[in-house]
Formats: sequence, C-alpha cells, structure tokens
Amino acid sequence: MKLIDGKALSNTIKEEIAAEVKRLSTNKKRPPHLAAVLVGEDPASAVYVRNKVTSCEKIGFESTLIKKRETTTEEELLEIVRELNEDKDVDGFIVQLPLPKHINEHKITLAIDPAKDVDGFHPTNFGKMAQGLPAYLPATPFGIMTMLDRYDIDVQGKNCVVLGRSNIVGTPISILLSRKATPGNATVTLCHSRTQNLEDYTRKADIIVIALGIPNYLKADMVKDGVVIIDVGINRIEAPERKSGYKLVGDADFEDLSEKCSFITPVPGGVGPMTVTSLLSNTLQAYKDHFLTNS
Ligand code: NDP
Repeated sequence: MKLIDGKALSNTIKEEIAAEVKRLSTNKKRPPHLAAVLVGEDPASAVYVRNKVTSCEKIGFESTLIKKRETTTEEELLEIVRELNEDKDVDGFIVQLPLPKHINEHKITLAIDPAKDVDGFHPTNFGKMAQGLPAYLPATPFGIMTMLDRYDIDVQGKNCVVLGRSNIVGTPISILLSRKATPGNATVTLCHSRTQNLEDYTRKADIIVIALGIPNYLKADMVKDGVVIIDVGINRIEAPERKSGYKLVGDADFEDLSEKCSFITPVPGGVGPMTVTSLLSNTLQAYKDHFLTNS
C-alpha cells in the first residue's frame, strides 16, 4: 500500500503558488486577495475557515475574514455578498457552509458573482465544468483530480466508483473522472443511498472515491486487491484515550483496507489539505483572469 500524502502534496503546491505570487505581484501590483464569510458559531466551520485564512498568509495572499453572528439575516448576508462582488480589491470569496437554517444556501450561492466563485459552487461554474470549459472547479473534486495527477495514478479506462452524490463532492467528481480529459476518461458509477447491492459495484472498482459521512464504512471485504481509495469523509468519533476526547476518521476503514489497496488517502492529511490548496489555486486563477488582465 502506498499513502497518498495530501498534506505533503498540498505544501508542495502552496510553495509553487507562493513562487508564482512573488513573480506576478511585482511592479507594485497587489497580491491575490481571498475573502471568507463565516456565519454562526459552528466549531468545525470555524476551523476550516481559519485554515483557509492562515494558508493565504503563508503564501503571500491577502485575506479577509468576515465573521457574522448566528442571527444574521439572509438579506444582511446577501448585502455582504453584493459588496464582495463589487469590491475590486477582492479576487475571490467563499461563504462557508453550512449556513444557519434560516438562510437559504442556494440563494446565497446564486448571488455570488461566478467570476469570484472560487469554491466553484455556482451553477455557471458547475455547468462549464460539466461541458469541459474553463471554470473554477469545486475545491474538493479539484483537489482529488490533482492528487491523482501528481501521483501518476492511471484513471483512463478504469472502473471508478463514487460513493455519495452531493453537489460539492460526489456529483462533480463523477463528472470530472468521466470527462474527456487527462486525468479523466474513466468509466464511472455513482452510488448513493438508494443504490441496491452497493458492494457489487465496489468489488469491481479500480478506484473508489468515498464521500458519505459514515465513519469507517468501507471495509476490506467490499473491495478487490489493488484498489485505489480516495477517502473524502471527515467524521469526528469519540476517543476517550485522547485528551480532546475525540478523533477524526474517514469513511474508509484505513486499518482494515491498508493491506488490500494499492493507494489510499489518510484522514486527516489526505483530501482535506488538498481542498484548501485548490481554493488557493482558484483564487490565483481568478486574480490572473480578472485583476492582472485588466490592470
Ligand atoms: P452529503 O451528506 O451531502 O451527502 C452524502 C451522500 O452519501 C448522499 O449522496 C447520500 O445519498 C449518500 N449516502 C448516505 N448514506 C449512504 C449509504 N448508507 N449508502 C450509500 N450512500 C449513502 O455529504 P458531502 O459530500 O457533503 O460530505 C461527505 C463527507 O465528506 C462528510 O464526512 C464531509 O464532512 C466530508 N467532506 C470532506 C471534505 C474535505 O475537504 N475532505 C469536503 C466536503 C465534505 P442520498 O443522496 O441518496 O441521500
């Protein structure tokens, strides 16, 4: 088994981005600028946003964190989105999900200018991605494609099974894997909660991308020898032996699978860091597409 070290790879890519930022933001041009909006007190969201902002600082981006209380109204959030859309000093921004229940996430996503949608959630970017046109790819699938590419994992013609069909992970990664591109050209099966005999699919898979949100769901007896496993899941489970009282595990049972697979991503340290790096790549691209070409 070979580990796909998302943390190390993400550090390499961040160094590449930092070098490019240094080169591009000469002649007194400002560096790329990412803004993040966090509404409410969800502790996991606060950690994700902090990681994103800290990563910006490390690679020479400007970053702005806009923190709003849980009771922020939908109209107030829409106003923040409008301001960020208009702000010429911001290249890209994200609104951290999930949002409080009284705010319609879809409405917020639709309000974001697709040119600044570095999370790649806007239907305009999603549609372009599906048609193979240049677009800001959703950060997690983008990170997975980068991992497959940099680890030289052959995808073409392979039997890929994606578990989970969310708009931000399962559905877009199934599109990217099946696109006529490199990496891509895979034969993809997308499984979900209504799939019958799911193991019939996973046992035939050369590559499995799992994004269910169910701790340690995928076991060795569900896969064939030599399978590649990309584990997107991040689940917090109780661990009384730890000081914190919990630990993070993926959707794949790492211990159980490690003897049987050819490659596997760990949790933590796999897909998660690559998601952040992809967001930074999208922001750099937005900076080049709009700020640098217009100044
Ligand atoms: P969602 O909760 O939006 O979707 C889960 C999917 O799993 C759904 O399509 C659901 O099917 C399917 N599902 C649930 N139970 C089963 C089952 N028993 N058998 C088959 N399919 C099932 O998930 P997300 O994509 O948002 O997230 C998935 C996981 O990935 C979570 O742990 C999340 O924390 C993590 N994540 C990690 C990221 C990273 O950067 N590493 C980024 C984003 C998410 P149906 O559609 O039928 O309901």
